[in-house]
Amino acid sequence: MPPRASLRALHRAPHRDSLLAPLRARRRPFFGRIALAGAFIALLVAPAGCVSPRAAQEAAEATSLQVPVTAAFYPLAYLLEQVGGPGVKVFTLTKPGVEPHDLELTPKDLVDLPKMSVVAYLKGFQPAVDEAVAQQAGRAAYDVSAAAGLTLAAPAGGEAGEAATDLHFWLDPIRYAAVGTALAQRLADADPAHAADYQARAAAFTSSMTDLDRTFATGLKSCATTKLVTGHAAFGYLAARYGLTQVPIAGLSPDQEPSAKQLADVAATVKAAGVRTIFTETLVDPKFAQTVAKETGATLALLDPVEGITDLSPGKDYRAVMLANLAALRTGLGCA
Ligand SMILES: [Zn+2]
Repeated sequence: MPPRASLRALHRAPHRDSLLAPLRARRRPFFGRIALAGAFIALLVAPAGCVSPRAAQEAAEATSLQVPVTAAFYPLAYLLEQVGGPGVKVFTLTKPGVEPHDLELTPKDLVDLPKMSVVAYLKGFQPAVDEAVAQQAGRAAYDVSAAAGLTLAAPAGGEAGEAATDLHFWLDPIRYAAVGTALAQRLADADPAHAADYQARAAAFTSSMTDLDRTFATGLKSCATTKLVTGHAAFGYLAARYGLTQVPIAGLSPDQEPSAKQLADVAATVKAAGVRTIFTETLVDPKFAQTVAKETGATLALLDPVEGITDLSPGKDYRAVMLANLAALRTGLGCA
């Protein structure tokens, strides 16, 4: 249940969303111009291969003028980088390689939250973040769930956990683009001097996601099976967008362990539908997927829920991992 009324109130108070914002709004354009002019002159006069102490100092000043923002986990960090561009400095609460559902935070992780202009999070996804944001982020807090258009209920097969709604919106490029647009607006509210830049970046991101959506729709148009058997129930929005039916082995969170009966039900579905591939993921132990595969003779393939990027990820960023996912889906589902 996103607090829609308070979100609206936040949008109506664009200049008060952090203690730093009013200061930055006055300071940034003036010093930004000085730094730019200085860098330009330094470029003209500095001999090649030599960085003057003055240029280095000016570069450091330019960095310190970046708008500081924090993302709760990778998909939101990628969005902030895409729509924020070089004018924002993005911090992430969930470190690479950590399964975000299980995130625990130390007081040290929270020390900078009150200095942020925007703290983007997904209410209900990471309880530790919800608590930290409520205590530390103040008006910088921005819950993306309203913009994400969360319409899917938890799959019936999953354990009845605290989350009754599927929150994995970023696996649908169209929903992901909508959140990008909302975040750009939020950045514009925090840093009005660069509003046009954020809006232009959001438009470019939306166009890139529309392109990705078309690639998925074409690639998954005609497949031998539409049953998508996955490790945890992260792919509901992707399945709904492209006419697939998700059959999750675990619940919405990977630590919701399936019962023996749920494993037997999934195995029965796999056999009945002639499913030949069980999809597992990078940050989660595949033991239950292996159990079902062994029982049914299906093979395992990697499908990444893009909850974090590590060396094991099949791509270096969201878009690359999604394209690797499409290739895995086309092979696993037998698409023409
Ligand atoms: Zn998940």
